[in-house]
Amino acid sequence: MGAAGGETGPAGTGGGGGATAVPEGGTGPGGTAEARRRRLGAVRGAMAERQVDALLLSHGADLPWLTGYRAMPLERLTMLVLPVEGDAVLVVPELEAPRVPAGADVVVRPWAETEDPVALVAALLAPALPAARGRAPRLGISERAWASTLVSLQQAVAGAEWVVAAAVTGPLRAVKDAAEIAALRAAAAAADAVAVAVTGGEVPMVGRSEAEVSADIARRLLGAGHHQVNFAIVGSGPNGASPHHEPGERPIERGDVVVCDFGGTLVPGGDTVGYCSDITRTVTVGPPAPEVAAAYDVLRRAQAAAVSAVRPGVRAEAVDAAARQVITDAGLGPRFIHRTGHGIGIEEHEAPYVVAGNRTELVPGHAFSVEPGIYLPGRYGMRLEDIVVVADDGVDVLNTAPRDLAVVDG
Ligand code: ZN
Ligand code: ZN
Repeated sequence: MGAAGGETGPAGTGGGGGATAVPEGGTGPGGTAEARRRRLGAVRGAMAERQVDALLLSHGADLPWLTGYRAMPLERLTMLVLPVEGDAVLVVPELEAPRVPAGADVVVRPWAETEDPVALVAALLAPALPAARGRAPRLGISERAWASTLVSLQQAVAGAEWVVAAAVTGPLRAVKDAAEIAALRAAAAAADAVAVAVTGGEVPMVGRSEAEVSADIARRLLGAGHHQVNFAIVGSGPNGASPHHEPGERPIERGDVVVCDFGGTLVPGGDTVGYCSDITRTVTVGPPAPEVAAAYDVLRRAQAAAVSAVRPGVRAEAVDAAARQVITDAGLGPRFIHRTGHGIGIEEHEAPYVVAGNRTELVPGHAFSVEPGIYLPGRYGMRLEDIVVVADDGVDVLNTAPRDLAVVDG
């Protein structure tokens, strides 16, 4: 049986065009290379403003965002030495160097197994340090660099002040350019195809374990074009009350409410860097109990209210408040136990976070999830999640899968 009702909710005002049109140069390798050059210029401008003398980018999303190259999380050091002026140099293990894309706008410096890469980084940094300017050097390092790398660098570069690179890159990377929005839209479409299968009853539930349903969803995510599955949460019955439940051996039964939250990474054609999808739909196996239907109605309205609140100039926390108000008014406020959403891009979770206290003003290009939930411990849970992008004139909802409570037969 299909989803109860075919209405797909707040379709957004941005649709497929307008503010998110493909940029000059397109989204292929040429356009992406140009976009990366623009990003590098913006980062250097922000470094100068904050008097950050160099960024040292290792694991995490900043490096692929700027260069198209994603470092494997090896113990061997990969580090882009990015001074505020002059060449950016990518220090990379020799055996990884062939993976650096040709279009990356950096000087590649492979290091052999017997070299000391920290000494190499320190030597590359030396000309960028403001010894003559009478202040301590200020260096920004990836949040996800190994602690051992940072400790070694602190010994090798005496007297430097260390900050997280995200202080410079975070606000810039949170605002997606047109190539990135196109990539997020493609990932969302692939996730939608799987969500439609789940809510349409094509994914058998009854008698299968959560783990089996999760594996089925994971296969479908790959089949729909993702290059990697990041997670496929299936929380049935009481397990649905744990938002990040690890799918287990519990067999799904008639009458269960089942929370399905899944996503992967899709690499656009001609590119080397993937962008994430993330969607949640809740289904009931057989007709829902009246209480479940009533709670879902609250959830549905809460999510619609939050999506409708998204537009330029609104603070991120106001979007959270819009969802929370509806759930609180229904007497279920304490059962909504997490923030309303998170930014999404190269990483599954990144800025901006949609949470009370985040006074960041939304601007066109901010991309994030809107995913209120209601959780009744020992009984069931429910969540509804879409990815949205702030458009010039409102909101562009990337996901289109039906949002009503889906009732499946078996
Ligand atoms: Zn999710
Ligand atoms: Zn999410």
